[in-house]
Order: sequence, then structure tokens, then C-alpha cells
Amino acid sequence: MAVSGEVGIPFAVDAAGHRFGRSAIDRSPQPFRKPLSCAGCKLLVTAVAGYTTGSGRHTSSHYRRHPGVHHDASCPYDFDRQVQVLVGADSTALERERSGHYRLVLPDELQAQPPHDPPGTYRRRRASIVVRRADAPRLSAAINSAVKVARLLERFDHMPQALEAFTVRSGRSAIAWRDFCYLPDRYDELASRLSTDRTRLPVAVSGIAQARGVASAGTSYWLMHDPSQRVQLDGSAAYLRLRIRSRSEAVLERVTDGQRFFALGWCGRLDAGKSRGGHRRCDLNMWINSAAGICSW
Ligand SMILES: [Zn+2]
Repeated sequence: MAVSGEVGIPFAVDAAGHRFGRSAIDRSPQPFRKPLSCAGCKLLVTAVAGYTTGSGRHTSSHYRRHPGVHHDASCPYDFDRQVQVLVGADSTALERERSGHYRLVLPDELQAQPPHDPPGTYRRRRASIVVRRADAPRLSAAINSAVKVARLLERFDHMPQALEAFTVRSGRSAIAWRDFCYLPDRYDELASRLSTDRTRLPVAVSGIAQARGVASAGTSYWLMHDPSQRVQLDGSAAYLRLRIRSRSEAVLERVTDGQRFFALGWCGRLDAGKSRGGHRRCDLNMWINSAAGICSW
């Protein structure tokens, strides 16, 4: 169980001043010159290769501080301190559990489970969060906290130990962070899951606003991230795109072209014809009809 105090450091600087990520630890020979220090402060660190404990728990490669020495107060790679800042912030949706894990609590609007949307079909009834004006601050707090956690985990190179420190609470369901937050490199995992998973738990998706348009009926708008990567989906090659759809143009106009966005809600999957040498094209669709359901930077 990864709890506070066990999350390592993702980047180090060697004696020659070169910066290294975690993959350098697993190379042979190791490319760095010791001593190594934390990439965020001058704290001396040790490179620890990945290992599996007797109980079967795997810890991936990381840099570790020596016992009894501490990061500078402002070091971005001090996991405990950085999480404390998030948990202590005003209007946070994060809570610290007794176990030492951290929990993102989603508001009631994200607890209902809309009808399942069979993959590859188009349906008129689309799941979207219904937000009353009075509830918008709680949804805003949830998405703002989710973004902060996602960015923290990015800074920590998505180390499994860091991911395991967070869970998401949606009604009675506890969701692992990996099953909640999907960046472009894991759209294929989300698409696969949508073809089998009937639980319909809410997810967070992130992408870059690369294109936008109006649906052919003229009644809704979309924003798209297209990683242009061929993935294996249900046993054959496919290109996956993420589309954020809305009946409100103003909601999507909050995200300017080229900005990164983060949206919270339910995702559906739609086969979207063929292209690029006859490969399947598949869209992940999320409907956002409240400005509180999407943010960008
Ligand atoms: Zn440091």
C-alpha cells in the first residue's frame, strides 16, 4: 500500500549537472555520474531500481532521499508537502483518509449512473451532468482539485506509488485514480473499458483543443483532441479521438485553441467510420453542458 512517505522522487541531477528520469536507473550501464541530487532541490538521493516485495507488490524505479534528510520547503518533488498544500487549500474536494491515502470526493451530480451506451451506436439520450446553479461551486471544486492532482501526478512521472496514493469517491463507489483519469496516451484503455464496463462510473479526460466545429444538425458543438495514433482496439487497428460535445457554444468557448482541457463526466464510445488506409475511426464522446464541467490552461 503506497501511503504518504513512500513516494519517491522522479527526476535527479547528476555530478555533471545532467537531469535524468527514472528510466535511466534501469539502463546498463547507468548513464549518470554520482552523486545524484533531487532535481527540485540539492538534496542528495539514491537511485533505487524497481523491485517486487515478498507479498508481490511492485515498486517501480525511483530516486530516494536518505533517511533523516529533507527537501527544501519549496521543492516540487516533495510529494508529502505538495499533497498537503492541495488538501489544505480553500474549496478543495480532497480529503486525507486515515490510511494515509487521499480521496477526491465527487459531488452528487456525478454519482448517478446514466443508461449504458452500447459501443458503436449513436443514441439520442446523452449522459451529461445536470448542474443547478447552487451546486456549481461543488462541481468546480471537484474539477479544480482533480486537475491539481492530475498535474501533480504528471510532475511525478505517473509513478505507480504516487497514483496509488489517490482514490476517487463517487457515491458509494471508490475508484482507483487510474480508472478515473485518462490522458491521451490511455484513450485506448478507456475505449476498451467502455465496451465491457457496465458500471458507468464518471471519468476525467484530458486533451488539447486541436479542432472545433458544429454538429451537422446545427444544434450542438464539439471540441476535439486527435492523437493520430493507431491503437489496437477489440482485436483490430483503430484511430481514437476524444470529442467534448455541448449544446452550449459558450461552454466550449472557455477553452481556446491549443489549450489543454480537462473535463469531468461520462464518456461514451462511437464508431465513426473509416479513414487512413481503411482503419477504423472511433470517437470517445463526453457531453458537457455546464461550464463547471470543463476547465483549461
Ligand atoms: Zn527536492
